[in-house]
Amino acid sequence: MPHDEEIPVLIVGGGLTGLSAAVFLAWQGVPSLLIERHAATSLHPKARAINPRSTELLRSVGMEEEVLKNRSAIADNTDLVHVETLAGQERARMPRSTQEDISSLSPCGWSLIDQNRLEPLLRDRAERSGCMVRFDNELISLSQDENGVTAQIREGESGQRRSVRAQYMIAADGSRSQVRELLGVTRQGPGTLSHLVSFFFKADLRPALRGRKMIACYVNNPNVVGTFMSLDGDMRWVFNVSYHPEKGEKAEEFTPERCARLVRLGVGVEELPVEIESTRLLPWEIAAWCVDKLRVGRVFLAGDAAHVMPPTGAFGASTGIQDAHNLAWKLALALRGADPSILDSYEAERGPVASLMVEQSMLRFDVREGRALADVTAKMLDELTMAFGYRYQDGSLVLSGESGPVEDPRSPSALPGSRAPHLPLQMNGQAISTLDLFSRSFVLLAGPHGQSWADAARAVAAETGLALDAYRVGPGGDLADPENRWCDRYGVTESGAVLVRPDGFIAWRAEEGAQAPRGVLDQVMRQLLKSSTQGHLARTN
Ligand SMILES: Cc1cc2nc3c(=O)[nH]c(=O)nc-3n(C[C@H](O)[C@H](O)[C@H](O)COP(=O)(O)OP(=O)(O)OC[C@H]3O[C@@H](n4cnc5c(N)ncnc54)[C@H](O)[C@@H]3O)c2cc1C
Repeated sequence: MPHDEEIPVLIVGGGLTGLSAAVFLAWQGVPSLLIERHAATSLHPKARAINPRSTELLRSVGMEEEVLKNRSAIADNTDLVHVETLAGQERARMPRSTQEDISSLSPCGWSLIDQNRLEPLLRDRAERSGCMVRFDNELISLSQDENGVTAQIREGESGQRRSVRAQYMIAADGSRSQVRELLGVTRQGPGTLSHLVSFFFKADLRPALRGRKMIACYVNNPNVVGTFMSLDGDMRWVFNVSYHPEKGEKAEEFTPERCARLVRLGVGVEELPVEIESTRLLPWEIAAWCVDKLRVGRVFLAGDAAHVMPPTGAFGASTGIQDAHNLAWKLALALRGADPSILDSYEAERGPVASLMVEQSMLRFDVREGRALADVTAKMLDELTMAFGYRYQDGSLVLSGESGPVEDPRSPSALPGSRAPHLPLQMNGQAISTLDLFSRSFVLLAGPHGQSWADAARAVAAETGLALDAYRVGPGGDLADPENRWCDRYGVTESGAVLVRPDGFIAWRAEEGAQAPRGVLDQVMRQLLKSSTQGHLARTN
């Protein structure tokens, strides 16, 4: 049967994950169609912090500056505070690590941007890069065969149905993913942990704040359990309040009067003037689970469709953005003619990361809920390790050396499977980070005596069409190493080399030179791309 439309990649869901996927695919030159059930991007700020690793990915597609310009009004606030009431005594204060802590590890920091500001930026960028973005369009059914996926889509206003045929589909349709249900993918984990309503209000909380600059304030007293988050610093707020459907409570019962009363109980000021913006009431759940598989045939689950975690730790949105990036460069390769089995590495790499993120946000949730047993806090990984230290132990890699699932990014191993460390370098006299080299292509970095590696890489690129850049680092090389630390930081001698993937993860490392570097690299590429480098990949950019 003919289809109304054909497209290499269909993305279902226009939240952070789907929109990021559209941007990253476009960056790789892959056309995509994104459909989103709602008429507009999120009105709610939801995720307010994108972690430094995801900021690195946004930087790699040239969006960091734009994101920084749209920082939230509370971007400079630092503390997460636990209180009985906002006006009362503090119970505990958890500082966020500062940009200073991060600057030796990355050119990027946390991006404190509200989700309802980031989504429009991504949408705009996706559209400008040629992605077809259609809001008010809903996926209603799908089928697939060995050549592609067929989706039935209903256009909201007209109710008109169309069929779209895609070579691959990214299901970024959120925690209630219909695609996941249609594919019968099961989930594992604790499930729903609590129910919340989220509402917006205006009130002058400056006296209760007493000059404190908070990211979030967790209130817990016999009358209300919830989280205050400021939208503008002091006058406009979101309150996320727990409620109990198991005791018969309903989200609709949160009338403006009740919401105002709850705000006063949370602030601890009985007569506080409060104005509720009741039209923006949002019921949601805190939950923790991961899917049992991230891929069914030609459909890939990403973001909240694949894993949901408590918002403690701010891992949810960032994990979705990283999923999208991991998929985009691999889909680009598969669509250009690499063996499609490279796509198996998506699940092998992102599945364990999703489990780690869920486990760690659960530990933080337990601390927040007052269940901070000694063994809970002992298992908690610090923020920088969570952002930069997770390692891929299986996937599109040529593994070597002993390594676990996480490492301390302050002393990076630079072993295959780990994030390539940041180091200041110079290119044509301009200061850059090593990370600025990793964007669309594979990159081979060789030590000052590693010219034969660089030559071999250039030959592979020329013969196969693979986007593969090569640089020699150090005296006389393509890149100056002003601190003379590159070899040491990347764990190679002056004649060694590393191969870094487009996502900035190390794929392979040779600590020193080899007799026949071209033969070695051919072998490495075969293993990474699961295909012969004799074949020629189509270039699309
Ligand atoms: C109140 C709240 C606070 C949060 N706070 C944080 C935080 O501080 N830090 C953090 O990291 N995370 C936080 N999160 C989680 C974060 O918002 C999510 O992890 C993130 O939004 C996931 O993005 P996503 O694109 O994967 O899914 P979603 O944002 O859920 O997007 C999925 C999209 O798919 C669309 N869709 C669904 N079905 C279909 C269909 N059949 N056809 C077409 N479109 C469809 C939906 O309309 C939706 O827009 C919070 C979430 C909430 C609700």
